[in-house]
Formats: sequence, structure tokens, C-alpha cells
Amino acid sequence: MASDWQDEEGLPEKRPGRANGRGPTRGQIMRRRLVALASLVVVVVAVVIVLTSAGDEDAGLATKPASSTAHQKKKAKKDEAGAGKSSKVRNATPQADWKPDEGPVPILEYHVLGSPPEGAPYPELYVGRTDFEKQMDWLEKQGYQAVTLEQVQEAWYHAGTLPPKPIVISFDDGYRPQYTFALPTLRKHGWAGVLNLKAEGSELYESNVKAMLAAGWELAAHTIHHLDLTELGPEELKEEVAGSRRMLQKEFKVPVNNFCYPAGQFDETVIEAVEEAGYTGATTEISGFAEKDKPFELARLEILRSSHVAGLAEDLRNGAGATAEGGG
Ligand SMILES: [Zn+2]
Repeated sequence: MASDWQDEEGLPEKRPGRANGRGPTRGQIMRRRLVALASLVVVVVAVVIVLTSAGDEDAGLATKPASSTAHQKKKAKKDEAGAGKSSKVRNATPQADWKPDEGPVPILEYHVLGSPPEGAPYPELYVGRTDFEKQMDWLEKQGYQAVTLEQVQEAWYHAGTLPPKPIVISFDDGYRPQYTFALPTLRKHGWAGVLNLKAEGSELYESNVKAMLAAGWELAAHTIHHLDLTELGPEELKEEVAGSRRMLQKEFKVPVNNFCYPAGQFDETVIEAVEEAGYTGATTEISGFAEKDKPFELARLEILRSSHVAGLAEDLRNGAGATAEGGG
């Protein structure tokens, strides 16, 4: 809700004063100067408009009362958009109004944010960016607060607490816009997401993932090669499930507690492998709310290109998806 661009005030607002022109030549010069000044003002105004409509996060970060003095000392020198701010989001730590909660929690499932390119095999997996922003705005207006799946599990199994209306926002596979767009958009709300990252062949650079982790995101495993786990032999299954966890932990040096089945495919054998690898939970593409007593069959609400705000609202109302078709 907090406005993120108070620093516009600081911009110099030059106003051409009344010229007391004497000679005609002076007048001409004055007029020329006025024209130059006027066009400068136009340019400045245009820049301000572009900055604000781009949802400029640099301004917000710069003016936000820094929650951490520790981070100020440690000068972050990353310059990529969305990175460079190591302070965690508001919901990274429990707030005063959080309470014990062992109830079902909705987990949203997103893939790409943006428009599908010509001939994309699953155009429904591309959620429009404006749509995504509207959905996040709507969630906040409805009182939802995004938390990580780990925070939900902390409440479910270890007497942790959750906000009054918790929701988990998960992103599969590791597409670029999850870093360039989802990260700054969620940050505006003070929220972190869950990144279900395949260990090899994602579109995200290591530095992208690290920036997301620094912002409080949770890293979850999504196998190494994104294969249908129900079709693998025992060795390969173990490698994809346990191996991906090891790889992510080694590369990013964070705990990886949750798993996400590629294309939602799993069976009893796959669940056993997931449990054996030491995961706390696993997300599926079963439509509904995630429940405490089904840790390895956590339901999600898949948000599609055609969902818009209305579809998201309906999914949350039903606790089951009207949008369950579509691959992924
Ligand atoms: Zn996937």
C-alpha cells in the first residue's frame, strides 16, 4: 500500500521567470531560452511518467525507511534490475497479528509472466504481466498475505504462526520473468514467493536466484531434468529427486525443504523417493488448497492466461480450480 515513489518531489522544477526584455535581440534570445527550458521540462516530466508507470522499485527502496542497518553497511553492488537490494521482504518474519494456524492454505502456481510467443505449445501458461499485477493487488485488497511454504509448514508442524489470510505464490521451472518481473512485483507488496527450480536448464542465472533468496524467497527442488518421474527406474528416480536437492543446496547454500513434481506426475514410488530424500513436502497440480495431513500431495491453484482476477477469485472461493486444464 505504501507509495513507492516519494522522491519525485526532489526533482528540480524550473520555471521560466518573467523576462523583462529590453531590445528585440534580447527578446529573441529570451524566447529561444524559453523554448529550450520548456522542452527540458517536457523531458523531465516524461522521465518521471516513465519511472512511475514502470512501477519503479529503485525509488521505493531508496526512500523506504531501511528496516536493517546491518544491510546498509554491507554495500550490495549488484546492478541488475530487481537485484541489488538484499533486505528481506516484510513477511519474511512473523508479524504481530500472526497466529497459530493448521488449516488449509492456497498455493498459487504460475509459470511464465508475459505474452506467449507465436506458436508457443502451452500459451495458457503465459500469464499477462498486467494481469499478474492486478491479481497481486486484488489479493492484498482481500487481506491475503503471501508467505513461503516453509512458513506454512512451520505453522503446521512446529507451532509457528501465519498471517490472518495466508497464501503461497509459487513459480515453476525458473523462467526469466520470475526474476525480472515477479520478484519486484511481489516485493512491492512486501511478499516473497517460492521458486520451484529445475536444477539444470532453467532460464535463471545463479545471480538471479541468489537475489530472489536474498529477498526472502524459498527455493524448492523440481528435479534436474524435468522428466515424468513415474516413468523412471529406481536409480534415475533417486538421482532426479535426491540429486536435485543436493545440487541446489550445494550451489545456493540454503536449505531445500520442498519438492515439486514435474507436470504434476507422481505415484506411491515417487512419493517414497521424495520422503527418502528428506523433503518436508511436495506440491502437485491437484486443484485445491494444500492440507497439513497430505504433505506429499499438496494441492495448488494453477493460474492461467485466461484466469485474470475473476478466475483467481473463483478458485479461491471454491478452494478448487475452474482452471485445472492445461499442461505444465
Ligand atoms: Zn515444471
